[in-house]
Amino acid sequence: MSVVEETYDAVVIGAGHAGCEAALALARMGQNTICFTVSMDSVAMMPCNPNIGGSSKGHLVREIDALGGQMGINIDHTFIQSKMLNSSKGPAVHSLRAQADKTAYSLSMRKTLQETENLTLRQAEVTELIVEDNKVCGVKTLSGAIYHAKAVVICTGTYLKARCLYGDVIEHCGPNGLKAANHLTHSLIDNNVEIVRFKTGTPARVDKNSIDFSKMEIQLGDDPVVPFSFSTNPEDVQIDQVPCYLTYTNEKTHEIIRANLDRSPMYSGVIEGTGPRYCPSIEDKVVKFSDKNRHQLFVEPEGLNTNEMYIGGMSSSMPEDVQYAMYHTVPGLENCKIVRNAYAIEYDCIPATQLKASLEFKNISGLFAAGQFNGSSGYEEAAAQGLVAGINAALFLQDRVPMILDRSTAYIGVLIDDLVTKESKEPYRMMTSRAEYRLLLRQDNADLRLSKIGYEVGLLSKERFEHVVEKERLIDEEVERIKEINVGARPEVQSLLESYGSIPLSNGIKLVDLIRRPELDYDKLAPIDPDRPSLSDEVREEVNIYIKYEGYLTRQARQVKQFKKLEEKLIPADIDYDDVNSLRIEARQKLSKLRPANIGQASRISGVSPADISVLLVYLEAYYSKNN
Ligand SMILES: Cc1cc2nc3c(=O)[nH]c(=O)nc-3n(C[C@H](O)[C@H](O)[C@H](O)COP(=O)(O)OP(=O)(O)OC[C@H]3O[C@@H](n4cnc5c(N)ncnc54)[C@H](O)[C@@H]3O)c2cc1C
Repeated sequence: MSVVEETYDAVVIGAGHAGCEAALALARMGQNTICFTVSMDSVAMMPCNPNIGGSSKGHLVREIDALGGQMGINIDHTFIQSKMLNSSKGPAVHSLRAQADKTAYSLSMRKTLQETENLTLRQAEVTELIVEDNKVCGVKTLSGAIYHAKAVVICTGTYLKARCLYGDVIEHCGPNGLKAANHLTHSLIDNNVEIVRFKTGTPARVDKNSIDFSKMEIQLGDDPVVPFSFSTNPEDVQIDQVPCYLTYTNEKTHEIIRANLDRSPMYSGVIEGTGPRYCPSIEDKVVKFSDKNRHQLFVEPEGLNTNEMYIGGMSSSMPEDVQYAMYHTVPGLENCKIVRNAYAIEYDCIPATQLKASLEFKNISGLFAAGQFNGSSGYEEAAAQGLVAGINAALFLQDRVPMILDRSTAYIGVLIDDLVTKESKEPYRMMTSRAEYRLLLRQDNADLRLSKIGYEVGLLSKERFEHVVEKERLIDEEVERIKEINVGARPEVQSLLESYGSIPLSNGIKLVDLIRRPELDYDKLAPIDPDRPSLSDEVREEVNIYIKYEGYLTRQARQVKQFKKLEEKLIPADIDYDDVNSLRIEARQKLSKLRPANIGQASRISGVSPADISVLLVYLEAYYSKNN
């Protein structure tokens, strides 16, 4: 029997948030790429919350954009509401979040993939990896077709051996009833890939015509809207926005849940997979936070051309009748009609400690992995990994050194380092608290931190890179200019200070010191700085942050210097830890299993103590002096 046989440079398994970024990066870097999905109608599908961004996730989207990825541009074209979260706090935690029209988001991304040169999108289930001598050579699909390629990126998300559960109902399918992928896991195990089972859940969708919004708090979008992509003209995103709403559960809701916990597959033990701690189901919240008499619920539109409303904060796997009962206790949802039940989904994925920081498997050359398949949770986390895996698969094919973003360069660096270094027993979700250098890793300066890298790997366009170089020049020039300005205690200065409730001057002062006053900033002092050049919003924002936080930024930059010293102490790939005498057994076992690339990474492995690191440093000094 003859089978279809084709050859590509690269194969991407999955067209979810990870797969789309990986496939686009590969194709845009000149690699002839084929991207598989079990359904052409699920490209960049959002099976859960209808929004992109939010705390720390907004940072990831900006970083994806700065490197040349697609998510930021795609949401700027398809959002229906946008908000800058934490804007009353410091710039390190400012985070953009946009409500997406889910269908428009998916269609727009699919169109981008279909219009990209070097990229073929194909509906077929990949069932097998072709691996020879620990090198990946291609894949096979359900029909037996063979696709030869020297690089493969696995981005299978929540589909591998997926099953969906609510109450006693168990369906062997992927999200939204789509086909599950039930064969690839076996091939992975045959190639010595360790598999784990995770789970996540989603709330019900209810018909907006059955909701009484008068009993909820309206949540409006920002005006003006700030775009996600550095390439988007802010004028193009000032649209009419749709509202979201805030309501709460109450004791009645909690009583119904407590009374039916034994009927929840999560509590009856039917569900085997481990769920995300930071995205708990309503059952988990009621059990774990029993002191709380209410939990916030965000009621969000799923799109402009649907009546479906997403009840954020109430994901569950309770039986259908219990879902009706508990949703009907919520103010505004007393008569709601459920359009889609809440459910939990279990799926196969991997401990990402099997991967290098480039997201290539340690034991199979040319095989990369990204997204939920790596044990993370969230569209943004998936897209960030997909981009890195796609870029590194292309660099692998071009025989170039991989792009490794460390913890001091990007949230993406924190995300990947945590995944490949720390053994995680649950889906990993990004949070600002995970980043040591968060004042340096702000969402507003992602382009200044990463666009040079995006350009040098061959993904970001010259035009966008030159725009960033010019922006940097304008920022530096303006900061230098400002630092030279002294301000006298003139009447117009005094009245301006008074208008902001700021202490009047007794003597002359440096303009930078005025900017540093909490009640003042760079823009507010424009009237007393007549020679000020006309600068864009983004340049003025950077100048203000640089001057206001200079002390903290300088201190954090010093800490980064220390951090990099340990990151640059490389560990030979073939080191035999049994050879390092006074290492403790636990450390020896962990280091042998995880094989860190450098001392910095070794120091972040749980079970490896500072004393073990000192032993290792002494051993490496002797090793390198002997071998140099
Ligand atoms: C029910 C549910 C609830 C969720 N709740 C949350 C939440 O509360 N918070 C949160 O942060 N995230 C949540 N998520 C996770 C979020 O959806 C994912 O993080 C995100 O979609 C992951 O993107 P991905 O690209 O890794 O995978 P996915 O978006 O799942 O895409 C996987 C792609 O791989 C394809 N595929 C899989 N196997 C094969 C194969 N063998 N052959 C060919 N194609 C294949 C699929 O067709 C699809 O295109 C939830 C997901 C689901 C399903």
